[in-house]
Amino acid sequence: MRCPYCGSLDDRVIESRAMANGENIRRRRECLSCGYRFTSYERIEEKPLMVIKRDGRRQPFDSKKLEKGIERALEKRPVSTTTVENLAAEIEDQAVMQAKSSREISTSDLGELVLQRLNDIDKVAYIRFASVYKHFENLEEFINEVNKVGGIKK
Ligand SMILES: [Zn+2]
Repeated sequence: MRCPYCGSLDDRVIESRAMANGENIRRRRECLSCGYRFTSYERIEEKPLMVIKRDGRRQPFDSKKLEKGIERALEKRPVSTTTVENLAAEIEDQAVMQAKSSREISTSDLGELVLQRLNDIDKVAYIRFASVYKHFENLEEFINEVNKVGGIKK
């Protein structure tokens, strides 16, 4: 969590305690950069994040599945396993933020989030993921997508 004093994102939890209502957790935290101590209150999410598929069916968000998809796109690319895990966690956070109180996100919005991040990290992985996720109809569509990201360097 961001330290309210110095803005650093590194902290450690000193103490966690469930509040009387049983629905909130109060944590005492200490900033690892400046030592400032602060408190965070976390609410338990009752509703899980749901993914709306193309045919309208809903499925609970599956972080393992997302990780697998990213892993496949990044196969044999110079990217570490930790990066894949962090990436999946980041995308899940973004999906939760985008879903807001509805707690729902469409597969296409979720796919766009993945593509945005892959585009920053690895163009080859971007194309791989896009080709699976966008189901290119023909070669022309595929080439358009490649050109959009500025081509693949060998
Ligand atoms: Zn601090």
